[in-house]
Amino acid sequence: MKAVVTGGAGFIGSHLVDELIKNYFEVHIIDNLSAGGIKNIHPMAIFHEIDIRSKDAKEIINRERPDIVFHLAAQADVGISIRYPNLDAGVNINGTINILEACRESDVKKVIFASTSAVYGDFRTDQLLESDPTVPISFYGLSKLSAESYFHLFHHLYGLSFTILRYGNVYGPRQSAKGEGGVVAVFLDRIKNGEPLMIYGDGEQTRDFIYVKDIVQANMAAIDNGHQDIFNISTAKTTSINQLVSYLNKIHGSAIDSKNTSGRIGDIKHSCLNNQKAIQKLGWRPVFNIYQGLEDTYKYIMGSGS
Ligand code: NAD
Repeated sequence: MKAVVTGGAGFIGSHLVDELIKNYFEVHIIDNLSAGGIKNIHPMAIFHEIDIRSKDAKEIINRERPDIVFHLAAQADVGISIRYPNLDAGVNINGTINILEACRESDVKKVIFASTSAVYGDFRTDQLLESDPTVPISFYGLSKLSAESYFHLFHHLYGLSFTILRYGNVYGPRQSAKGEGGVVAVFLDRIKNGEPLMIYGDGEQTRDFIYVKDIVQANMAAIDNGHQDIFNISTAKTTSINQLVSYLNKIHGSAIDSKNTSGRIGDIKHSCLNNQKAIQKLGWRPVFNIYQGLEDTYKYIMGSGS
């Protein structure tokens, strides 16, 4: 089988590429390295340093005619989306349309899309369901939601098959601590540099943290399952920032300095995604608990130069 992974030089995409190669896929990566890095790329992957908005990206897909396309390349920073909504929409909406057009022209069997819990915005409920209202509160959430609509319409008009995966808060090795970065990556980077952890507000805000290897397996499960459907990909468990700090203290083996700073405007207090639909229809379930995932990531960060 031949696969194209857009964003395959990035955090999640590079782990997916590793797994595909392990499963004997021929893998082509389309990535412009705006956030990803060459060091993340598996040596057996065929790398095209190309922007998803370009004619060249379309040409690669038209030429290679992959069986499956995993579309992960994105402007994935909420703060940038607020400052530069045009840039965000250009990559996340127009770039997605460009990839979908190429897939349609090349008779790709399926496209699997990396979407996000940000599409739900601040809708409050204990566990978000795929059928809950989508009212994004950032341009990033909005551009991802718009991109989702293009998948539906490309299927309706042209029969292009898809699965949309809405990830919770992903963490793991290779996640960047730069810019907004995930809180796990940012905290581990500060531990490595002997700096105090900065906790926004009272630290009681919760997130549904999911380990990157579980995300990879959800993508693998979507190859043959969940056609024309949307799935939350999450652990359905919440961890507060204070709990996260206490796990990191335990893993580190000595007390880590931390400071509480003012809460961030627009921060969602609690976020948890129900994952029953994915368990039932994708035949997937998360296998890593937060402690195992954090331990793995801690070892990676402490052992690497990053
Ligand atoms: P990442 O920034 O590490 O990866 C994105 C990759 O896309 C990078 O390698 C970047 O260079 C590439 N890229 C960006 N713009 C591009 C363009 N115009 N053309 C070609 N390549 C481009 O981010 P990630 O955390 O690995 O996210 C992967 C996907 O998962 C994204 O679509 C993101 O929205 C989604 N997602 C991530 C999380 C998370 O917690 N990390 C949560 C929900 C959804």
